[in-house]
Amino acid sequence: MKPAPFRYHAPKTIDEAVALLAELAPQDGRVLAGGQSLVPIMAFRLARPAHLVDINGVDALRRLEVDGDALCIGACVRHEVFRRPVIPGPLGNLLAAVVRHIGHYPVRTRGTFCGSIAHADPASEWCAAAVALGARIVARSVRGTRVIPADDFFTGIMTTILDEDELLTEVQLPLLPADTRFGFYEFSRRAGDFAIAMAVALYRAQDGRMVEPRIAIGGAEARARRIAAAEQVLAGRAPDAETFAPAAAAAAHDVDPLEDAMTSAEYRRHLVGTVTRRALEASLASP
Ligand SMILES: Cc1cc2nc3c(=O)[nH]c(=O)nc-3n(C[C@H](O)[C@H](O)[C@H](O)COP(=O)(O)OP(=O)(O)OC[C@H]3O[C@@H](n4cnc5c(N)ncnc54)[C@H](O)[C@@H]3O)c2cc1C
Repeated sequence: MKPAPFRYHAPKTIDEAVALLAELAPQDGRVLAGGQSLVPIMAFRLARPAHLVDINGVDALRRLEVDGDALCIGACVRHEVFRRPVIPGPLGNLLAAVVRHIGHYPVRTRGTFCGSIAHADPASEWCAAAVALGARIVARSVRGTRVIPADDFFTGIMTTILDEDELLTEVQLPLLPADTRFGFYEFSRRAGDFAIAMAVALYRAQDGRMVEPRIAIGGAEARARRIAAAEQVLAGRAPDAETFAPAAAAAAHDVDPLEDAMTSAEYRRHLVGTVTRRALEASLASP
């Protein structure tokens, strides 16, 4: 099928883009970024936006640089950019490890990091990474700019606290200390499919102990989130199988899994335990 008719707008600056959104969002206007989620649902006529505000011509949204304590990722930065570490150290390595799980090469060359955050698919790898990393999400409208912590941003399946006329201009990922170890693991039925469950594990390795551990689970619940119960098991203990097993069990116990025709809640709960343990095991080989 082809999309329903829509009017196309191509702003050149962020100011123009937010002015257009102020006018057009109330008339069912939407942002078009990489189009890898929006265009398919338009083609199936599950979405029929009357206006598309295409941000791909806004050069200021291509920013990808370290600014202060964070890596700043502009709204037009594509997934594939992260294939090789964009900065030295654990953060660049973590993003490179995660990105290869997103869809297929053509999807990664068009889809954007920020588009994934705005779209808020529960099975988005970047949403899980953003929560694990304590991302700051920058939203702009004609009313001004606000910075939203990732923990507060996602509210449910494909829903966020972004207002309809707000443009997500960039995501800021705080840099990771050099002693950070990380692991990522996801399970999907076929390579390139959306994951049924995924885990991001992070901690600082100090004197053979895990400090500031973070476990984020994606794909299993309505939104990606950190699992405090699992983190508490890890804090201050040695990174080994004896600690990983109870942390994985705590994550599995804590989640409220989604259920669909293909996947029962109990199966997803079991998977959460498995992906958490495997992400923690992967951290032992972290570069
Ligand atoms: C075959 C296939 C497989 C895929 N597999 C995966 C996968 O395994 N994991 C995964 O995470 N994703 C997957 N995707 C989705 C892909 O990653 C998309 O790129 C991503 O979800 C959305 O980014 P986008 O730039 O394409 O956004 P678009 O499709 O352009 O937009 C998506 C939504 O977000 C809104 N939006 C986008 N950018 C902004 C912004 N800056 N401010 C405000 N609103 C905005 C749009 O209005 C729209 O509602 C897959 C897609 C396909 C087609």
